[in-house]
Parts: sequence; C-alpha cells; structure tokens
Amino acid sequence: MADRFHVTSELTPGLLTLRGPEAHHLSVSRIRVGESVTLFRGDGWEYPATVVEISRRDVTLDVTEGRLHSREAAHRVVACVALPKGDRAQFLVEKLTELGVAELIVLETVRTVVHPGEAKVEKLQRYVIEASKQCGRNTLMSVRGPLRWEQALVEPTLPESRLIAHPDTIAHSGGPTSLPSGAFAFAVGPEGGFTDAEVQAAQAAGWLPIGLGPRILRIETAALVLAAHLG
Ligand code: SAM
Repeated sequence: MADRFHVTSELTPGLLTLRGPEAHHLSVSRIRVGESVTLFRGDGWEYPATVVEISRRDVTLDVTEGRLHSREAAHRVVACVALPKGDRAQFLVEKLTELGVAELIVLETVRTVVHPGEAKVEKLQRYVIEASKQCGRNTLMSVRGPLRWEQALVEPTLPESRLIAHPDTIAHSGGPTSLPSGAFAFAVGPEGGFTDAEVQAAQAAGWLPIGLGPRILRIETAALVLAAHLG
C-alpha cells in the first residue's frame, strides 16, 4: 500500500498543494519527487497522487481520479467507552480504528475518572487519522462525547442491538463467541466499573449485559475483545 496522507480540502484531479503537519510528514519521509502516494479525506474515497515538488513548507502533488474503496467492518459497531488514562486512551483509539469500529462515544459514568474536554476529543480524532493512514481505512471513525450514561442509554443513533460489558454477568458468561452477528453498540465502564444502578438502568432500556470471562479486563482490553468479535 502506498504511503497515505490525510487532507481536509476538496480532492479533485489535478495539482494540489499540501500544507501543515501532513506536508511536513511527507517532506521528512523517504518519499521523493516522482513517487506515488495515496490521499484520503475520510469520506470513503482515496486518491492516488504523484509527488511533483517538495519544499520546506509545502508539497505539490498531481492528484488522479479518486476511487471509492471501503475497508470497513462487515457490520456497524459503535463503542461507548469510559476512557482509560493517558497513553492507554491513545492505544484504545488506534486499535478501535484498526478494527473498523464506526464510532467511539466517550462515556461519562458515575465512576468515570477521565473527563476529556474538547481539546482532548480533538486529540483523539488525530489518533484516528494516524491509525487510518497506517491501516488503510478511508472512512474515519468518528469520536463523540463525552456523553452522560443516561443519555447514551437512549441515544437514537445507536444500532438497536446494545450490549453492556459487566463482570458480574452470568448470562453469556461463556464469552463473546456466543454473540449474534449484525450491527451493535457496546458499552465498557470505567476502572471502577458501572454501578449496580447504571447496569439496572441499561437493562431497563433494553441493553443486554454480557460477561467476558472470569478475569477482570482493563477498559481497553474489554473494548477490543468486543470490537474484534462484533466487527
Ligand atoms: N471492578 C470493576 C467492576 O467490577 O466492574 C472492574 C472494571 S473493569 C477494569 C472496566 C470495565 O471493563 C468494566 O466496567 C466492564 O465494562 C469491562 N470488563 C472488564 N472485565 C470484564 C469481564 N470479565 N466481563 C465483562 N466486562 C468486563
């Protein structure tokens, strides 16, 4: 796969000037004038392009006809997750992107300790772009939130099938292999877990509790297990 660069401007065949961090990334890479790269905006399309000129500030590319190339998962999966701390949030976002999750909703629950502001959510979106460049995804995973648990429970844009991962669950304790297929939303709680009231509210709203085995998994492990099985 040719090296990939994300652009925010409209992409049409012809000459394009790339500026900012992506131009810098290209200019410090091993890519030379005359070589091919791939450009994408995150809307499902990709555009082969040839490097025409590399300067200190920008890069000129000759863009050819775009093609719609889906590398999405077979089913729409929405991950509702209370973020883990620090680098583990970056790891989570990168891996959910690689696994083809359509949307990450950052959860605010009673025991949530990571409360991301707008700047943090923007940073998470940057991780989505970097992971999409690496894994070849042309559609960006959207990152939304933080959303309070009560709102997430009744969020109308979620797929109808909804799972809440909870360690004390006896039903489905055989693990995720028994899961049905199709579009799904799943929720993973914070380090302190969901409260009993939160689990009960989820059940009342039609969410299915699911156990992931006898060991307590970290937030990112639980989310990735579910994303891998549901996608
Ligand atoms: N002591 C907390 C509890 O009992 O819920 C542990 C929380 S765990 C570190 C963080 C989240 O990962 C949980 O809220 C749950 O959503 C998910 N999780 C971790 N291990 C799990 C398991 N074995 N089964 C189902 N969900 C699990």
